[in-house]
Amino acid sequence: MPKRISHLGIAVKDLAASEALFKKLLGDEHVHHEVVEDQGVSIASFKIGESIIELTASTREDSSIAKFIAKRGEGIHHLALEVDDVASELTRLKAEGIQLIDETAKPGAHEMLIAFLHPKSTNGVLLELCQKK
Ligand code: ZN
Repeated sequence: MPKRISHLGIAVKDLAASEALFKKLLGDEHVHHEVVEDQGVSIASFKIGESIIELTASTREDSSIAKFIAKRGEGIHHLALEVDDVASELTRLKAEGIQLIDETAKPGAHEMLIAFLHPKSTNGVLLELCQKK
């Protein structure tokens, strides 16, 4: 079972502009930058207590973030739930009838293993499961 909300992902077009905006909103003390080649994204993360707000921009046209922005515009993209074991959680949720985007976990930001669940089976919310490596 998920044990906490890890982070909230926000899809943005211009990472530098959004980062400047969020620095005004949240302060600039705990900003972390990362590129996840595998997913074609560039990320600026703001740590707030135990949680993270993750600004995510696309680094290539065929990334899922680029497709999301083209279809729905900028905004809240996904909610990430931390679990102890992504693989067993995927097995459990699949058995519960939840549609998976990722059948197996893959490397994500923050040194985590991640997997996405399909929003069709989760009330329109893209959920990410993540596990510390
Ligand atoms: Zn995420």
